[in-house]
Amino acid sequence: MSEFKLTSVEEFEQATNELLENGAKVGADAWQFRVKNQTPHCKFGEQGTCCRICTMGPCRITPKAPRGICGCDVHGIVGRNFLRFTAGGSATHSDHGREICHTLHEADPNGNYKVKDPEKLIRIAKEWGVETEGKDIYDLAHEMSELALMEYGKPFGTQRFLKRAPQHTQEIWEREEIAPRAIDREVACSLHMTHMGCSSLPEALVRQSLRSGLSDGWGGSMMGTEFSDVLFGTPKPIETEANLGVMKEDEVNIIVHGHDPSLSEMICEYADDPEMIAYAKEMGAKGINVAGVCCTSNEVAMRRGVPMAGNFLQQENVVLTGACEAIVVDVQCIFPALGPLSKCFHTKFVTTSPIAQMPDAEYIRFNAKTAGENAKAIVKMAIENFKNRKPELVHIPHMKQKATVGYSFESIIKTLDKVTNSQVDQTGTLMPLWQCVASGVIRGAVAMVGCNNPKVRPDTAHIELMKKLIAHDVIIVASGCSAQAAARAGLMDKRAKDLCGAGLKRVCELADIPPVLHMGSCVDISRMMVLVAELAKIGNVNISQLPVVGCAPEWMSEKAVSIGNYVVATGIDTYLGVEPYVSGSTEVTGLLTNGVRDWVEAAYTVEKDIDKLGDAMLARIEEKRAALGV
Ligand code: SF4
Ligand code: SF4
Repeated sequence: MSEFKLTSVEEFEQATNELLENGAKVGADAWQFRVKNQTPHCKFGEQGTCCRICTMGPCRITPKAPRGICGCDVHGIVGRNFLRFTAGGSATHSDHGREICHTLHEADPNGNYKVKDPEKLIRIAKEWGVETEGKDIYDLAHEMSELALMEYGKPFGTQRFLKRAPQHTQEIWEREEIAPRAIDREVACSLHMTHMGCSSLPEALVRQSLRSGLSDGWGGSMMGTEFSDVLFGTPKPIETEANLGVMKEDEVNIIVHGHDPSLSEMICEYADDPEMIAYAKEMGAKGINVAGVCCTSNEVAMRRGVPMAGNFLQQENVVLTGACEAIVVDVQCIFPALGPLSKCFHTKFVTTSPIAQMPDAEYIRFNAKTAGENAKAIVKMAIENFKNRKPELVHIPHMKQKATVGYSFESIIKTLDKVTNSQVDQTGTLMPLWQCVASGVIRGAVAMVGCNNPKVRPDTAHIELMKKLIAHDVIIVASGCSAQAAARAGLMDKRAKDLCGAGLKRVCELADIPPVLHMGSCVDISRMMVLVAELAKIGNVNISQLPVVGCAPEWMSEKAVSIGNYVVATGIDTYLGVEPYVSGSTEVTGLLTNGVRDWVEAAYTVEKDIDKLGDAMLARIEEKRAALGV
């Protein structure tokens, strides 16, 4: 086995520079150039102090003009903007979850989508009080899908999955009136509250931001995760590879990008089809290579071991290799730049969802009923495009790392069972993890999540923070583009245990795990919520007492704010490396970084200095340990 060495950010950058040079040969644009045109950014926007929700404005708040035309002050304007930002994220994640519920409704033993994890379906059905005895599994799937879809618009009651939280957390949500009702209602209510002439009270706006966030994390996202597992299988540890070096010079490269696994799963099916492989060979390629970008990549990596080409700010890089026959996208985080960029190369940019339609793309509308035909057409299109490659433009940076991924909540339990003495202790619980935390062998855990953002040197914050934390015996659970940064650097290689403190290293060896556990895509942060809920229950403590924090050091999207809000509202302190657009209001900033602690026992910390951010998290973990007396 070759000697293990992390890939550095400098090496990532060297590869990117080579690709930009490749792009320069054909006049390709890239985000690195567009950032220059867009900076410095507008201060009103950055501070959240511009209001354009009615046509008396836009109103911009300055010392000379402290109120908008309607009389709204800066705190109301910043609070409204923050809530709208949250609602955008919550709607987006939850609509992804809704699509999965619709796909579940299409599940058919002879159709495109099957029930791959019937046990999980039955478990959720029982949890929801649905009779399962003697029912055909597909009838049950359809019944559950309808019940799940009702969670979006039911007139009364709160989200079903809230009952998974410890009693104390549920009581907080009730007491603070933030237990989320129907998901769509929370989004609509947020838009209603922020309409001209409605709420301008920061407390009310921040409270609804938490509620709308919770409807995502414990509602839409959780259903997205759970029913994706039912349809496509619950992830188990699996080997894969990460970074641009997973693209192959002699094969048809199909890149799947976006978030919804319904499309990418089908593409993977057809890319493995012997008929398609034979066709690729006929066209002069040695085979078909599917790799991923962003969360679609996480979904198929976790379930199939499909390699991860890159994360958010790498999406243009895959085209710049000149070796991408097709970049096939579903929804979210897709640069509209991919259309014009693809035109500089032979790449086909294929959009597939009515939700994400873009210029300069080939639109093959994908739906659950025709998924097989659609996927086959896309794979065929990519194969036929192989001959159009320009060899002089092919440049694949030979850089990749091995990664073990697939740590769903269920697979973490199974991994722990292997180190449980079943003669003495009960299996199927998080007790071994709790014992490691309580004894101090592991000091705590950090949930590393979120995007890349050009405001932070890409991937540096993710990677440097993870290195620092594991060296201090803090285990990492990661998702989204943060997970991909880790994988590309090598932190999901089991040999990365050598970078850990002695305690965590021992745990990695005993449990045979890497120190950074890939828990999936962004909607899969719901898996982390289940994990902390169960850990709190087994430790007989509140979630807010656990030595666990959340961190999004390079976040950029509305979804990330929705996530942050539900993580905080679940009782987990959350650390951000990029400022949300709230600095214009001392009241809103004060609530988010401090005031909400009185409501939900956790708050945000914003720190742009990565080293200080790491120190702050470690200090918080130790503070929590001291308070627990462990
Ligand atoms: S709602 Fe008020 S602050 Fe906003 S644009 Fe209209 S007048 Fe200006
Ligand atoms: S982490 Fe951020 S950039 Fe990456 S896929 Fe999720 S939302 Fe998009």
